[in-house]
Amino acid sequence: MAQKTRYPLHLGVTEAGTPYSGAIRSAVGIGTLLAEGIGDTLRVSLTAEPEAEVRAGYEILKSLKLRQRGPELISCPTCGRCQLDLLNLAREVEERLCQVKLPLKIAVMGCAVNGPGEATEADVGIAGGKGKGLLFRKGKVVATVPEAELVAALFREIAKLEECEDNEDE
Ligand code: SF4
Repeated sequence: MAQKTRYPLHLGVTEAGTPYSGAIRSAVGIGTLLAEGIGDTLRVSLTAEPEAEVRAGYEILKSLKLRQRGPELISCPTCGRCQLDLLNLAREVEERLCQVKLPLKIAVMGCAVNGPGEATEADVGIAGGKGKGLLFRKGKVVATVPEAELVAALFREIAKLEECEDNEDE
């Protein structure tokens, strides 16, 4: 159809399911077509709040580098080196990132030894340690922070980047 017509094509996987499996099915179905250059609009259909569908849709577009809206969170899978509760830390950061508009790459990594190095492409990130962690920008450590203040330090750094962007726009 895409080759035969110039009409815009709408993509979606109907009745895709609950947020986890539905997002994966949608990413595979919609993403495969988009990766081939097929499709002009999309709708992710999940058994979830509409906001979750929109977030999933943008994640598909972001993953294919077709549209960047808001920040992108990267986080490590954890391993034996991880010494903090990275799952909850990443969850908290992800929730708070919904308020950030700038298309930044944010990293949440499990250890100070490899975290900054593994996430050099991140604009800003945090890496855990025992009782304290690191705040880093583009792989370079900028501060050592008590574990309880890591998230606050990260969002202060994000706010600084947003401020710089606003000043450049003026
Ligand atoms: S950043 Fe550290 S904790 Fe995370 S996977 Fe890499 S080595 Fe393991």
